[in-house]
Amino acid sequence: MSRYQLFINNEWVDPNSGRWFDSLDPFSGEAWAQVPQGDAVDVDRAVSAAADAFDGPWSKLSASDRGMLLYKLGALVERDAQRLAVAESRDNGKLMSEVLGQVKYMAKYFYYYGGLADKIQGAIVPIDKPGVFNMVRYEPMGVVASITPWNSSLLLTAWKLGTALCAGNTIVCKPSEFTSVSLYELATLVAEAGFPPGVVNVISGFGKEVGDPLIRHPKVARIAFTGGDEAGRKVYVAAAENLKKVSLELGGKSPNIIFDDADLDKAANGVITGIFSAGGQTCMAGSRLLLQESIHDEFIERILKITKAAKIGNPAESGTQIGPVATRPQFEKVMNYINIAKEEGARCVAGGRALTGPEYGAGQFVEPTIFVDVRNDMRIAQEEVFGPVLSVLKFKDEEDAIRIGNDIRFGLAAGVWTKSLHRAMLLSEKLKAGTVWINNYRSTSYTTPFGGYKDSGLGREGGMEAVKEYMEAKSVWIST
Ligand code: NAD
Repeated sequence: MSRYQLFINNEWVDPNSGRWFDSLDPFSGEAWAQVPQGDAVDVDRAVSAAADAFDGPWSKLSASDRGMLLYKLGALVERDAQRLAVAESRDNGKLMSEVLGQVKYMAKYFYYYGGLADKIQGAIVPIDKPGVFNMVRYEPMGVVASITPWNSSLLLTAWKLGTALCAGNTIVCKPSEFTSVSLYELATLVAEAGFPPGVVNVISGFGKEVGDPLIRHPKVARIAFTGGDEAGRKVYVAAAENLKKVSLELGGKSPNIIFDDADLDKAANGVITGIFSAGGQTCMAGSRLLLQESIHDEFIERILKITKAAKIGNPAESGTQIGPVATRPQFEKVMNYINIAKEEGARCVAGGRALTGPEYGAGQFVEPTIFVDVRNDMRIAQEEVFGPVLSVLKFKDEEDAIRIGNDIRFGLAAGVWTKSLHRAMLLSEKLKAGTVWINNYRSTSYTTPFGGYKDSGLGREGGMEAVKEYMEAKSVWIST
């Protein structure tokens, strides 16, 4: 079993605590790697290394040279995609095919942000006084703290890493305690690409022991957090107490809205991908299906057919469509929500059980589950389950769809399926969500903003706008 060390200053070091904890394979239930248990002393070491690198070699490099290093990292990620994907799939139980696709896509993040590094322009602003000029420069902030959840450790870190480094910052990355290995594997490539020591650091450990001291550290200038809204609120409070800039990518309970004029075959596939990809363990899961009344029964038949044919099992095997739930606490949470939904009076038409037997390894599998007769005031309609559980609600017309779609505290994403341009434009305007997909679901790109309205977060990742969120705008006044 591999034993990892902390990655600080391009060196592998033991944790101050002298302790390691096991990383469990969600399919087999076996401990497959040992992860260092960081603490506040390690946080200080990592942040100090990042601050020294920021004041030293990193700031001395030209933006083009910083960009070239990101290109090199992208190329190494492509070269080692299989190794990285195995690490992530073993840690969080995601399908190997899915993770491999994500890792290859991640390389493009680094190419994109490498290309942007020397294209961050300021401005000369017209001023109504003779002989006076105003210049706006964009400057990096310093040390960025990246904190990420277990569902997509590499990809979610890549957004932050690519953007932060492109903007000229240095970074300390804290992965989820459930999925640290893939980031340590990525760190080997950081050193190989030739980043100066301290530019990228990785320290694993628990939220209280590493996450909290990291965001409170006086030398951290910017916090980039992705996770649940409960931890997100704590991070926001700590950021406020220490007056730190922060972005929060939090949970969701996204409506996927199907009108009667939609291409129902395409919509049915979009609904299934929207909820059951990664076993529903994605922030953008289309976990609330809103069906126009006239097509309700027919559409349910279509999705039941696809759901019942899904191949569930070992995530490492090709052809598997749904793998295990990533962690034991999450498995228990999902099963609990299934019981809550039944008690609330929702009708289970598919799944609803845990799957056991040799083909289901250590027994962390939940059958893909569909509830109909769901009312929007039920907990199963309002709360994030983060598992393969779909809640189906009915609506009458456009106004009703918008009302139900927005009647929730989250606002991460929404899907709309219709052939009417009018409906598509109307809903894309009226839905209070950071992303609206028309006749598709789950499309994302590093080129375009991603983030949440309402309780789904604060700030945006992706695209040029996100780079400016990792920078300070400085206004320089010049009198001639
Ligand atoms: P989580 O909030 O429990 O943990 C996320 C990270 O925060 C972990 O690294 C954890 O150690 C750390 N943490 C916990 N408490 C902390 C504290 N007090 N201070 C600092 N750090 C702390 O989330 P999770 O269970 O790992 O992930 C699932 C959640 O992530 C879901 O709600 C999901 O919607 C959300 N998510 C959001 C996005 C997005 O882009 N909006 C993407 C993926 C996942």
